[in-house]
Amino acid sequence: MEYLANEMKMEFLALSSNEGFARVAVGAFLAELNPTVDELADVKTAVSEAVTNCIIHGYEQKEGSIWIQCRIEGQQMEISVIDTGKGIRDIEKAREPLFTTKPELERSGMGFAFMEAFMDEVEVVSKPREGTCVTMRKTIGKA
Ligand code: ATP
Ligand code: MG
Repeated sequence: MEYLANEMKMEFLALSSNEGFARVAVGAFLAELNPTVDELADVKTAVSEAVTNCIIHGYEQKEGSIWIQCRIEGQQMEISVIDTGKGIRDIEKAREPLFTTKPELERSGMGFAFMEAFMDEVEVVSKPREGTCVTMRKTIGKA
């Protein structure tokens, strides 16, 4: 079978008012894969978690930009959420469920755990003071 690939890139300010925009935009782009309501909800939640992390942790609610790159090929999707904020010192630790560096903001430390639960694969590349790139992959329509 021949697969046509498609790509989308977007950039927006790190404002919490853009969280909803990001999840809807990614959802709309993925529509051509005909995801189920559940699959779409999963991807949108994962995107929200990654975007929220850029705003709260990457830029600590200060000025910044967020980039999302989306690629689909066949029934597979790859979504990268990127910031150039403070970065993560210990990625392994950060990915542990219930680990948070902002308990004072009542974060529960479950963002990465949700991303992992809702997507097939989550890859985190980060460097302190340079930024963070979270890449998530999922195949839509698995029997
Ligand atoms: P919750 O998502 O439940 O509100 P949380 O954001 O603290 O809480 P995770 O999303 O799992 O939990 O992230 C864990 C930790 O990883 C964060 O507390 C933060 O220290 C770090 N982190 C995650 N994303 C970023 C990012 N984009 N930039 C810098 N640090 C990050
Ligand atoms: Mg989080």
